[in-house]
Parts: sequence; C-alpha cells; structure tokens
Amino acid sequence: MSTGVTVRVPAKVNVQLAVGAARPDGFHDLANVFLAVGLYDEVTATPSPGGPRVTCAGADAGQVPLDGTNLAARAAVALAERYGRPADVDLHIAKDIPVAGGMAGGSADGAGALLACDALWGTGASREELLGICADLGSDVPFSLAGGAALGTGRGERLTELEVGGTFHWVFAMAPRGLSTPAVFREFDRLSEGRDIPAPTASQDLLAALAKGDADALAAAVSNDLQPAALSLFPELAHTLAAGRAAGALACLVSGSGPTTAFLARDADAAESIAAALRTSDTCRTVRTAAGPVPGATVL
Ligand code: ATP
Repeated sequence: MSTGVTVRVPAKVNVQLAVGAARPDGFHDLANVFLAVGLYDEVTATPSPGGPRVTCAGADAGQVPLDGTNLAARAAVALAERYGRPADVDLHIAKDIPVAGGMAGGSADGAGALLACDALWGTGASREELLGICADLGSDVPFSLAGGAALGTGRGERLTELEVGGTFHWVFAMAPRGLSTPAVFREFDRLSEGRDIPAPTASQDLLAALAKGDADALAAAVSNDLQPAALSLFPELAHTLAAGRAAGALACLVSGSGPTTAFLARDADAAESIAAALRTSDTCRTVRTAAGPVPGATVL
C-alpha cells in the first residue's frame, strides 16, 4: 500500500493591510501584517502515476477548481520541474478555510502541497528554496508556509517574522458568497482615483501591540485599506460588522480582501459569546472562532 504525507496549514487574518498605488505591473505595494490563526486545511499527497490529480472535501469543496489551476497542483508541478521529476501525485484537500474568503485558503493549499510533495519525494529543498517557489505561486503563499506573524512587503511576499507576546482570540463570520481579490483591488483603484496614495508602511503602534500581546492596543491599531472597496462591492458586510460591534468585539474588520469579517475578542470566553451573537444575527453564513498566532504549514 502506498503511504501519503499530510500537511496541516492555517488560515490568516491581516491585522494591517496598507495598500499603495497601483504599480506599472498592475500589482500594489503593500505593508501587510499577517497573523496565522487556528483554522486549517489539510493537504495529503499520495504517490500516483500520471498526476497531479486534485480532490477536495468540505462545505466549500464545490467552489474549488480541481484542474491544473488549483494552487496545490501548481505547487506540485513547480517542485517537480525544479527537481526534474514527474509530478506523479494525488493531492487531497480537506478544506475548512472558506473559499474566496480573504483568509488565504488557496495559498494555504499551495504551501501545504509544496511541503507534502517535498516530504514525499525527499527532495531536500532548503527553506529558502521552498519560500522562493511559494513567492512565485502567489503573494500570500510564503506566509502560509511560514505561519506565526509576519510583515509582508513588496506584493506581500517579502516576509519579516514578527514577535508576538500572547495569544489573540478571534471570531470569523463567513459570508454567503465570495469576493474576487483582483476585483477588490480594481475597486480600490477606482475609489482612490485622483487621490495621492502614500507609500504603505507598517504601523509602529500595531507592531508594539503584537509584541506585547495586548488585545486592546491591537484593537486600536488594526486597519485594512481594502475594507472600503470590499464594502462597496458587498454592502451587506456592514450589517455583519455592526452585529459584531454590538456583541462587544474589541475590533471589527474585513479580513484581507474579504468578504470574511474578523472580530477581535478580549479572551476565549468573549469570543464564544460574540460568535453566539453573530450566529443568531442572520448577517452571515457560518461563524468560527480561532486563536493566533499558530505555526505555519506542518507535516502531521
Ligand atoms: P486571499 O486571502 O489570498 O486573497 P482568498 O482566501 O480570498 O485569497 P482563495 O480561497 O484562495 O481566496 O480562492 C481564490 C480563488 O482561487 C478561488 O475562487 C479559486 O478559483 C482559486 N483557487 C485555486 N486553488 C484553490 C484552492 N486550492 N482552494 C481554493 N481556491 C483555489
């Protein structure tokens, strides 16, 4: 019987997402503070001739492409090409991270598949090499591999690890439909037409709050420059944010490009009570609690 390798990969929330003006290549410079949270996809790589083949299970599985565009398949092909070998692998994704939710679910699967194939094939690739392949796959993929907390600059893919002095408790409200990240950036460009956009920089108050593990200080410092664009494309999110605020969340924000909304709670009990209020608010599809930071992609 052939044995597989399973890798667990966390979702992320952006506690700061500062967006610069569109560059000539269409990308935006970012100052992106990522926090990995305990909501996971698992990717299992099993030897199989003629691969890569992708299967997916979970509530959102129907929205996941199973062809060569799936980031897990692309990761396997990129690693195989690098090492001059066939990508003869089946990749099964057990999906718990919402699809097109602004929590880097696809990126998580890319990082997971890369680490799983690396272990399965015994390529012996260095951490730097794996991070380089991740950066080629997408801006958020290196952070999915790294986990913890990090400042991402450039397109978000150049990572500096950040110290975090405690655990932060979050509630995530998943929306009934997804938002396309490129569409949200286009809306950002439209809304900022004619305005001077400063170069994005990380907030020193926010970095200090993370380092101290101080939830109140973090709540005062979180920001997301994509939030107006996400709300413009998905106005109903304002109701979800208001419901979380009314339930006592310390901070309420759109996660990344959305439409998942994120609520910072004082502790685990407060997170449960905010989650309960959101579940009965009729403003979202599902509600989950998760704490962070947690480690990045991990072989189980
Ligand atoms: P981000 O937070 O990095 O902007 P996201 O969480 O908003 O991303 P994803 O769940 O990564 O969005 O999915 C975005 C799109 O990527 C999907 O609509 C889908 O077409 C495509 N995709 C490719 N591979 C995957 C995958 N393994 N899982 C989910 N979506 C994938």
